[in-house]
Amino acid sequence: MRTRIAAGNWKMNTTLQDGIELAKAIQQFINNFPLESHKRVVLGIPFTHIYPIVQEVDYKHISVAAQNCAKWEKGAYTGEVSAEMIRSVGAHYIIIGHSERRQYFHETNEDLKTKVELCLKQSLRPIFCVGEKLDEREQNKQFEVVEKQLQESLFHLDAEHFSHIVIAYEPVWAIGTGKNATPQQAQEMHMFIRQLIAKRYSPTLANNITILYGGSCNAQNAALLFSQPDIDGGLIGGASLKTNEFIEIIKLL
Ligand code: PEP
Repeated sequence: MRTRIAAGNWKMNTTLQDGIELAKAIQQFINNFPLESHKRVVLGIPFTHIYPIVQEVDYKHISVAAQNCAKWEKGAYTGEVSAEMIRSVGAHYIIIGHSERRQYFHETNEDLKTKVELCLKQSLRPIFCVGEKLDEREQNKQFEVVEKQLQESLFHLDAEHFSHIVIAYEPVWAIGTGKNATPQQAQEMHMFIRQLIAKRYSPTLANNITILYGGSCNAQNAALLFSQPDIDGGLIGGASLKTNEFIEIIKLL
């Protein structure tokens, strides 16, 4: 059975104290209502919060994720944080290729390929983000854009390494805009991604890969999105910062 995931992306929000409170509240909910074994919560949090929040959550149900890592292994890169450092403070997942990183930090598919390799070497599971911009969807180019992102950053991996990847389809026009993709639009893309994986690797591997939807996902629209056959949960930005709303989303997994 595929793992279903509710992943929060806190972005550059919360003080450490606020973050601990939020993580504790989610842990408390899960203590009262344990998740089935194929369901998991992943908290994508700022670097500064990783070590302390790892101490507050039970890895049985909740994993901690970083939101980025350096594209180098180690050395004279002042201000950068390596995959090895992230793993050493207890994170198990890492968001790679978020559209905000691609847009504001000019991360290319080639950079992301390197980051994915560095993460896998440290046994960090990438939550790899793909998705088209608004003008690309308007020109009906969403499938070629996503295929290129997968081809250039992930499809060089062998099947064993690829099996550790989680994919997040995040149409850029839907992130933080309040405009989510319809369940049909999201399902269509998720099915397309699964077909590409089946072609590149195998139908079995394609069937086992977790593919999340991200983009203005909230407690109101998650039920319909999550009920689509190829959608295995969500990567949630804004709504993951609101304790009760994120808990409602977890319940819908
Ligand atoms: C995100 O940042 O990955 C995201 C999906 O944000 P939001 O849910 O706020 O659109």
